[in-house]
Amino acid sequence: MLKKLVFIFFLTFNVSYFVYGIWGKTGHRVVAEIAKKNLTEKTLKKINSILDGESLPTVSTWADEIKSDPESRKYNTWHYVNIPLDEDYADIEKNKNGDVITAINECIEVLKNKNSPLSSKAFYLKFLIHLVGDIHQPLHVGRFEDRGGNDIKVKFFGKQTNLHRLWDTDMINDHMMSYSEFAENLDKIKFINTTLIPADWLKESQIEVNKIYNGVKNEDYIGYEYIYKNFPTVEKQLYKAGIRLADILNDIFL
Ligand SMILES: [Zn+2]
Repeated sequence: MLKKLVFIFFLTFNVSYFVYGIWGKTGHRVVAEIAKKNLTEKTLKKINSILDGESLPTVSTWADEIKSDPESRKYNTWHYVNIPLDEDYADIEKNKNGDVITAINECIEVLKNKNSPLSSKAFYLKFLIHLVGDIHQPLHVGRFEDRGGNDIKVKFFGKQTNLHRLWDTDMINDHMMSYSEFAENLDKIKFINTTLIPADWLKESQIEVNKIYNGVKNEDYIGYEYIYKNFPTVEKQLYKAGIRLADILNDIFL
């Protein structure tokens, strides 16, 4: 009986880990926490009323959580855009269901419109908080043929994972820090090149994803050397996402 329970526990844990990327939540919460610290008082007040008191880090993962709801499946393409490594976003055939760029622009448009009802403002604000994080995760603008690194298998300290999960979950969790500890730690990063244009954010992620693809082969062993070399990029992307999310929110709620 005990054996059976333990088995069921591990089965449940692994299945939910795979589907929802439970620990990948940390990255989104770090971005939201950094943004929160950089909002003006006026913006924070408006956001609090739209989110009915829920915090930015709390709502930052909502857009991933609704993926399992059949009604919300139509938004699944909003989280990423697949671009061939040597092409520009402007030149690719667009997904008719939307992508991370069209979705971010739609969020901004609805939030800037004074006539938008409160319920849609809440919906789009929660999406915006999430998607500014996603567009800064380089594998979210990766290749179509390997589903943004999901089909490239790697071993993280011997444990089977994939390139996508390595970048949004495994390397972050390996540091065993809470999202607020992370956010505090990243404050030391000096970063000035900010821009409010989502297409510019995407271009930076494309440069990073090129390096990531070049730096790994299928079935590679990932250990300390890889983390040492690549974690600064994770930190930089999280921090940029947080600052830019704050900038765009401050601009929307001016
Ligand atoms: Zn997402």
